[in-house]
Amino acid sequence: MSVLTQATARRGPAELIAAGNRSYSFEFFPPRTDRGEQALWQALRRIEAVDPAFVSVTYGAGGSSRERTAALTQKIAENTTLHPVAHLTAVGHSVAELRQIIGRYADAGIRDVLALRGDPPGDPQGPWTRHPEGLAHAADLVRLVRELGDFSIGVAAFPERHPRSPDWDSDIRHFIAKCRAGADYAVTQMFFDAEDYLRLRDRLAAAGCDTPVIPEIMPATRHDQISRFAELSNATFPAGLGLRLHTARHDPQESHRIGVEHATALAQRLLDEGAPGLHYITLNHSTAALDIHRGLRLPSTETSHS
Ligand code: FAD
Repeated sequence: MSVLTQATARRGPAELIAAGNRSYSFEFFPPRTDRGEQALWQALRRIEAVDPAFVSVTYGAGGSSRERTAALTQKIAENTTLHPVAHLTAVGHSVAELRQIIGRYADAGIRDVLALRGDPPGDPQGPWTRHPEGLAHAADLVRLVRELGDFSIGVAAFPERHPRSPDWDSDIRHFIAKCRAGADYAVTQMFFDAEDYLRLRDRLAAAGCDTPVIPEIMPATRHDQISRFAELSNATFPAGLGLRLHTARHDPQESHRIGVEHATALAQRLLDEGAPGLHYITLNHSTAALDIHRGLRLPSTETSHS
């Protein structure tokens, strides 16, 4: 067991950070097939060995995938030593449904929620409309979760600004509204340039907001992933990295090495600049995220025996 866990015995990320630790975490999504399920559990077992602060499970756009989030989060809580965080989105739900889902999480012993607005189904870039009996913004969901119990609550932050925010002032104002509504910490959208995270942190500090913002690390290890990243996140992909991945597109090992090298350098810079932790996207495979994590220069108190 790492010293990190011994010292902190499963506290929410904000408490962990407030106690002077950094929070390392890994993100998964509920698989659709038996093969996907196998790959996921293999990855979870390997991640267990580095004893992260938490693993999070994303919330899908449609009914059955939403059901799978609750089921998988519960299964992780029951069958592993990992601390699961359930993502939850307001989109497409009435308040009554949201209350029910939050109640189900609580009944299963899940006390950590990443509260998000979600995107319009079908076209994530399309205009946002709330459910007629639902919530308009993530801040409203934070308030609802807070009202319903003693949860640790995370929210989203956007180093390159939310794609629908007309300007930085409103983006920062609405982010701070989520913190005032009761969010304990934030996890960022993926980004590939440390300066974007550092500028966001400066903006928040200038606005008097000290909510910890954990940067998300997306390992880009294949050229054919890049357009999907842009679709998912609007993040600016570095042209140089794109070119290197393109050149190595027929050499999976070299491609992996290039992506891991870039992400490790980014992650190290963020930690050196004082980031309160790292949240790795795994796409349900552990290799790239673990290669990055193990490539970091971390103090001995933050390394496990794996
Ligand atoms: P909000 O905080 O509500 O912000 C959305 C936009 O509305 C912003 O432009 C904001 O400035 C604006 N806004 C907020 N409040 C107001 C107000 N009062 N008046 C006017 N404008 C306002 N999506 C999923 O479907 N499932 C997931 O599991 C998931 N996980 C994610 C995890 C992370 C770490 C991140 C960064 C994103 C994730 N998303 C997920 C995507 C997320 O749902 C979208 O990015 C969504 O567009 C924004 O969600 P939000 O919670 O930031 O919304």
